[in-house]
Amino acid sequence: MPRTRRKRPREAAKVPRSDATLPEFDRGAVPEGLVTRRALREMGLSPGDNEGPVAILRCCLCATRPNWSCRHPTRGFLLRVDLARPKRTPTLAQELALDRAIAARSTCPKCARRYVYCLPLRTVGSCDPCAQGYEPSPDTYFTSTAPVTHRLAA
Ligand SMILES: [Zn+2]
Ligand SMILES: [Zn+2]
Repeated sequence: MPRTRRKRPREAAKVPRSDATLPEFDRGAVPEGLVTRRALREMGLSPGDNEGPVAILRCCLCATRPNWSCRHPTRGFLLRVDLARPKRTPTLAQELALDRAIAARSTCPKCARRYVYCLPLRTVGSCDPCAQGYEPSPDTYFTSTAPVTHRLAA
């Protein structure tokens, strides 16, 4: 028999819904307070005290077979919102890195002014006043200069 490689059934193993270890809900019928991991992340929350999923969000295929437990990979795992915690705030190092990235993008390598907006460094390579040869208006860059060490040369 040459077709031995098709042993794995296309259909996920059928388990009666009564044997399911977790309660299952169809899309649109999920009780309040339960969300998928992804939804939690989009809310800016981490699982927090959730110790694993408390329910299953059934895949749309399974909406037509209510008697069977959803074992499809597209099912979602539902977590409790009330146990979730806000995501950890960025560390100081992360904030510094972000600040430096913004500084690099808003500092002109020619005149070393740091502007209040990001510069077209990829295309023009300098601030507009340098490229066009005029004095920038003082309200477009920081006059009370941050220490020079803070600046990143491009
Ligand atoms: Zn399913
Ligand atoms: Zn410039």
